[in-house]
Parts: sequence; structure tokens; C-alpha cells
Amino acid sequence: MNDVLPPDTWVWQWVERTVADVLQSYGYGQLRMPLIERTELFARSIGEVTDIVEKEMYTFADRNGESLSLRPEATASCVRAAITHGLLHNQQQRFWYAGPMFRYERPQKGRYRQFHQFGAEAFGYRGPDIDAEMILMSARLWRALGIPDLVLEINSLGTSESRAGYRERLVEYFSAHRAALDEDSRRRLEQNPLRILDTKNPALQDLVAAAPAITDHLDTESAEHFAALREMLADAGVPARVNTRLVRGLDYYSRTVFEWLTDRLGAQAAVCSGGRYDGLVTQLGGRDTPAIGWALGVERLVEIVQLAGSAPAAPVPDVFLLPVGEPAVRAATGIAESLRDAVPGLRVLQNCGAGSMKSGMKRADRSGAALAVIVGDDELATDTLTVKHLRGDGGQERLDRPGAARHLAEWLTKQSGRPDAGPSGEH
Ligand code: ATP
Ligand code: MG
Repeated sequence: MNDVLPPDTWVWQWVERTVADVLQSYGYGQLRMPLIERTELFARSIGEVTDIVEKEMYTFADRNGESLSLRPEATASCVRAAITHGLLHNQQQRFWYAGPMFRYERPQKGRYRQFHQFGAEAFGYRGPDIDAEMILMSARLWRALGIPDLVLEINSLGTSESRAGYRERLVEYFSAHRAALDEDSRRRLEQNPLRILDTKNPALQDLVAAAPAITDHLDTESAEHFAALREMLADAGVPARVNTRLVRGLDYYSRTVFEWLTDRLGAQAAVCSGGRYDGLVTQLGGRDTPAIGWALGVERLVEIVQLAGSAPAAPVPDVFLLPVGEPAVRAATGIAESLRDAVPGLRVLQNCGAGSMKSGMKRADRSGAALAVIVGDDELATDTLTVKHLRGDGGQERLDRPGAARHLAEWLTKQSGRPDAGPSGEH
């Protein structure tokens, strides 16, 4: 579990703002949900025989003896919230959420025990157009964040009926190669054979690669849905690689599943993953409602943004306010506040505490501020301020206070294109 410190928090904020802006531009509304739910909610939705539920949840009994868990993901919570508030009765809904998730995993680069996700979920849409929207919306995020090289993999898991037929083929295949399986996979062979395709054991990769492909066992409707989605993605110019081994680590998916992958984070390749989960709402007690969603890992995304160098520079102060001498130190707080009042948006960093002019100027330089406003005995006596340009020609002027505020306001207007002015405009 990590602390995030400045200046990294600046990159986080920029990523968070950019993602929220894009999601909202597609008409998604934010859901805020609790970090803790009944354990049963996750066991029923994610699946009893999954890594998450078997070994990764932070589960505890509350004072009432009720089993609760820190959420390992938020799709189940989202469905729970939508059912609780009656948001799915013949309605179509688009939601997004953001926040921490908790999984007891082996910590590595890009894999933590508290990590953060952004997620998007859409309810009530049956056709492949929403699948395409979900994927194109994520593609737009990468463009807005200046990430050029993520690879999209897609697959279709069909319906639970068509999957049952495929499951039999898979059990036949892996049973014939039982000796080559590891302990986990042997257990899964009985309980949840599709999970074997999801194994991260390198020794099983060849065996998994030669297994029957799920896309050869799809029902007609799922096959048509998948073909239509591929066509929409191709029309939109978003290339997708079909990976028939992509089954995802949660049980609730049906039909479309997808992942965006990077080769920049070692083994932690998935940046964003999702899929359709048409059966989950009924499984959790709601009315039959088709649904689809994805979640992205913020830590991994931030790391890639930092590698790509696409985040705007961390903000620096505009003005370093430097009082010199005890009377000026006493007056400085009032002067700083009046500058902030007079020039909205101006970033004023006050040099608090007394010190020499020389050490103050050093601090001003280190702060990255473009301007220093200097107040000494002379300025106090004449109600003026000295405005000094710290970058470039280093020129300085003595101005009365309204004149200084005007000067700073004009200077700020000229900076409106500054690189750290806000999230990039591309979305
Ligand atoms: P992985 O295959 O890397 O374990 P996953 O399939 O478990 O990922 P999801 O449950 O689909 O991942 O979560 C969506 C996204 O959240 C992932 O694509 C990844 O970017 C991120 N993520 C998942 N687990 C972690 C973790 N322990 N630490 C940091 N990010 C994570
Ligand atoms: Mg995982």
C-alpha cells in the first residue's frame, strides 16, 4: 500500500481530471460507493473459485459477527447500488466510479495491495454498439493522456449455455494432459476449467496455447455480436487483436471481454480490462438487465504517463512574495491576501518567517516562481511594491499597490497558454 507524494500527486490529479472529463463527455454519471461490502456480494459475483475470492480479499467480521470485505473491485458494488436504488427498472444507465481497491497480492511493480481504479459501467444496452462505445471511450482516454502504444485484445465468451459446451471440450483436453498441469490447475479442472486459460504459470503457456478456442464454440447470436463489434472497431480505426485465451479473472463475464495491454510494465501488462456481464444483475437479485463495463488501474496508468512524459509540468508559483525586515514580515500576509483577491488564479507563495534578502532570493529562485514581489521598509513607507522578473531579463519596477496588481494581472493573462493550465484539450 503506497503513499503518493508530490510531485507525483500532480500527475495523479491530472490523470484523474482527464479521465473524469472524458467519461463525463460520453454522458456517464459518477457513482460513489462504500469501500466495504458484505463478503457474500463478492463471492457471489466474482466467483468462489477465483484468485480474488480464494486468496486475495481482506475479510473480517464486524462487531455483529457479519462477514465484510474491503472491495477488491467495484462492479459488484455498482450493481448492488443500482439495484438498491431502483435504477435498473426499464432504464438505461451509464455510470463511472473511481477509488481504492484492495487485494492481498504479492506486491511488485504495478501490483499493490491497495490500488486505484477508474471504472465505467453501462446497464440496459443489449447491442454491440455499447461494447464499441466502451472500447472507443477507453481509446480516447489514451489519446487524451498522450499514451501512444497500448494494444487492444478482445474475445467473446459466448453465453453461459454455449460456454457449457466449450467447458466440456476444455475438460476433455486438459484431462488428457493432466500430468502436465500444476496443482492449482488440477483443482480448477474440476471446479472452473476456464480459469486454467487465465494461469500466469509460464510452464503451462504452451499447453494453454494449444487448447480448443472458445470462439469456435460460440452460439450464433454471440458470434454475430462479436463480428459486429469487430466491424465497428475497424470502422473507427481502432485495431483489435482477437485473443481466444482471454477469459478474465472474474466469473461474471459473458460475450465480449477485452484488455488494453502495455509492454512497459514488465509482467503487469493489463492497464484496462472489462467485458459484458449480462447475467450478473439477475444473479444479484435484480431484473434481467444486460450490462458491460471496464476498469483501469490508475497506478499503472500514472506510471505509463510518467514514462511517456505526457503529463504537464507540476505547477510552480507565479509570485514569490519576499518581505525583508520585521515590519514587512508582519505586513506580508495581508499583502499576499490582497494580491490573491485582486488577481484571481494567481499563485502566490509567501516567504514566511524572517531572513536576509539574499537567502530570500535564493528561495525565490528555487521555488520556480516567475516573479518576486519584494517588500522592504521603503516599500512600506511609500505603499509600493517592487516587482522583479526572475526569469529572462530580470528587470524590476517599483509600483503602487493597485499598479502592481494590474501588472501581475496582465502578466497572468499572457500566461493563459501555460502548459500546466489544466487538462489537455484533446478529448
Ligand atoms: P492482472 O491480470 O494484472 O492481475 P486483473 O485481471 O486482476 O489484472 P482487473 O480485476 O480486471 O485486473 O482490474 C482492472 C485493472 O486494475 C487491471 O487491468 C490493472 O490495471 C489494475 N489492477 C488489478 N490488480 C491490481 C493490483 N494489484 N495493483 C495495481 N493495479 C491492479
Ligand atoms: Mg489479478
